[in-house]
Amino acid sequence: MDLFPYTLRQNQKAIISTIKNTLENRENFILESGTGSGKTICALSATLPYALEHDKKIVYITRTNSQQRQVIMELRSIYENIKEDAEIKESLFGVGIQGRSNMCPQAREDKDLKEGNSEELSKYCANEKKKARTSKKGCMYYRNFVEKKELINQTSNWVRKQMPTAEEFIEHCTKKHLCPYELNKSLVREARVVVLPYIYVFNATIRNMLFDWLGVSEEDIILIVDEAHNLPDYIRDLFSTQLSVWMCKNCGNEARNYGDPSTGSGRFSISSFCNTLEDIIRELRDTYVYNILEEGIRKQSNHQSDAFLPRNEFLNEIYSRMKLNEKKMFDIIEDLVAYGEKIQEDKQKKNKLPRSYLHKLGLFLEFWMNLTDNQYAKLSVDASDGKNPRIEAYCLDPSVGTNIINKFHSSIHMSGTLEPLEEYRDSMGLSHNTTLISFSSPFPKENRKLLYLPDVTTKYSELMKDDTIQKKMWEYITTICNKFPQNTIVFFPSYNTLSLFQRNHDFSDIKKSVFLEEQRMSQTALMDLVSDFKNQGNKLGIGATLFSVIGGRISEGMDFPSKQLEIVLIVGIPYPKPTARQRGLQKYYEMKFHKGWEYTVQAPTARKLLQAIGRLIRDEKDKGVAIILDRRAPRFKPYLKELGKSIDIMKEIESTIG
Ligand code: SF4
Repeated sequence: MDLFPYTLRQNQKAIISTIKNTLENRENFILESGTGSGKTICALSATLPYALEHDKKIVYITRTNSQQRQVIMELRSIYENIKEDAEIKESLFGVGIQGRSNMCPQAREDKDLKEGNSEELSKYCANEKKKARTSKKGCMYYRNFVEKKELINQTSNWVRKQMPTAEEFIEHCTKKHLCPYELNKSLVREARVVVLPYIYVFNATIRNMLFDWLGVSEEDIILIVDEAHNLPDYIRDLFSTQLSVWMCKNCGNEARNYGDPSTGSGRFSISSFCNTLEDIIRELRDTYVYNILEEGIRKQSNHQSDAFLPRNEFLNEIYSRMKLNEKKMFDIIEDLVAYGEKIQEDKQKKNKLPRSYLHKLGLFLEFWMNLTDNQYAKLSVDASDGKNPRIEAYCLDPSVGTNIINKFHSSIHMSGTLEPLEEYRDSMGLSHNTTLISFSSPFPKENRKLLYLPDVTTKYSELMKDDTIQKKMWEYITTICNKFPQNTIVFFPSYNTLSLFQRNHDFSDIKKSVFLEEQRMSQTALMDLVSDFKNQGNKLGIGATLFSVIGGRISEGMDFPSKQLEIVLIVGIPYPKPTARQRGLQKYYEMKFHKGWEYTVQAPTARKLLQAIGRLIRDEKDKGVAIILDRRAPRFKPYLKELGKSIDIMKEIESTIG
């Protein structure tokens, strides 16, 4: 069955045929293929016929809601292309699901609820539904969902025919006063394709709920992972946990609000226990991050933001200060969890988000105490300019959360920047017979030039020693921006380097509109900035310049088709900061795969470069030049195959886009 709705390009034929083989052999496939090469449509049109024939479900996971939207749009193209066969159409519809905080109309209108995590919202929702079933109170969206059968049928038919995006679906249901979340749950069972955020597959509780809705077993699932290069870090974060001074304060306040019960066999109050934890976290930060060995004397101030903690240090401090042992500590944890549950129940009765900080503290301490393996690093971290230090159990090994993938029928992992593919396979714990293929860009090579300048660098020691380097870099930036009337983005390796250039140089040297991405900009402000940059460049005909930071929301997620972007300047090499977290990761990968540097420094840096460069070319007609202002760029030649040394940068830009 041919479901591909466009004219097939050479690479796409190969991708589709590899996916078909993968499905036949019940294996996994890791695919790298440049942005704009049509990975989504290939994956859908290759998996759908197999899924129909063998009664499998396709679970397509994305990192962001806009990627989810893209999948539904491609599914619609396939759907619209099937002219005659109504039966096939009926059997391949797809639905997009987002978390309750996005789908629940109550949570969308209530700031507190919107900030609730999935567990808290699930409890809140269960209570609302119970009230709606047993009285006239509770959630009216749910009551309508249960009572208005005719409306539910109409809406379900509309979904099957229109295949709305999650946003369209939420809007439609909310207008009709129906719960989108509940209706989606019932539709998922019939859907062939379900598009979800990553968390639905990697959080065990949410995954179990999903499998209940789907009504199939693991081996009936074909998993497609979008933008897979994000997944290992996503899983590391998901499986990491932390306790901050801010959290301890909230625990203390919560305990006091609820009568401050005693714990530790009645020897102290919960709030004083929380105060002690707060003191210990600060002192661990002073000792290990600030390196204060004697009172008031900072032995070393090298601006490090985190440090390793000796494995038992935190617990030993608690034991010695509170005169506890392991057994007594577990008793305290039990108290915290039990009090926390009571507080959750009380808040639930009062129609509030059932959140308890004490409950979370109990679970954190239990996790920390049981943590013995080397897949985690225990860290002390300084945050919020020293105001909110924390301790953290940082997950080094994403494979702690990926066992489930090997239980699925097959999985397909796709990204525009995934090299080295072996690293992804190993990090994710996928089997060694996984198919690994990297396709080169399908677009004309002459449309994109990738160069580096050999006489500059942002290597810290050189930059600090020789101030002519920075001047030379600024000269390159201003000359290129002023000479070429094309939209240009200048990416810096960090906000620190960007501010260094801001302090030392005058941005008005650039004779066109200049836009500046600021740290912690809201998503709306950022979108406005990017849209102004695109419009301004087109309007005045002299282009605009945008200063941004590599590895951020612009370089990793925004599209600049056609003339919206033609020159990318990358100032320096975006190596990861040598934090304790990064060192721990490197050491772990060295121990496990003997590839610490390659897998945790070189590959992630190359991906950041490729993501930034990838903004330039989105289709066959796009043209662009990317220039790395750093002599160390050739180290990344295995990943940046077209990289060449610049001989005369002005002429080279002219000949490509002039
Ligand atoms: S039933 Fe729906 S609308 Fe009501 S609280 Fe639950 S998710 Fe929200």
